[in-house]
Amino acid sequence: MEEKEVQIGRYKIKVLRDVCISAASCVAFSPAVFELDGESKAVIKDGATDEETNILLAAQSCPTGAIIITDAETGERVWPK
Ligand code: SF4
Repeated sequence: MEEKEVQIGRYKIKVLRDVCISAASCVAFSPAVFELDGESKAVIKDGATDEETNILLAAQSCPTGAIIITDAETGERVWPK
């Protein structure tokens, strides 16, 4: 399944479903953006918004690196490094 990429502020974010192990630490750091769906996989809420710091912390907290962030302006990978 193709993951949808969502832009929030300067970040483009997507969650790799196959890599997500439902640890939910992303939800703890940025509950405004991330939630677990019916299969306990992280998804990005519709119309979500949060501070970039919280989104980055959420991605950094993911034990499997399932959250990919790119800079919408430069196209550079922000996380994982
Ligand atoms: S922290 Fe990573 S593994 Fe855990 S629910 Fe979020 S995306 Fe999935």
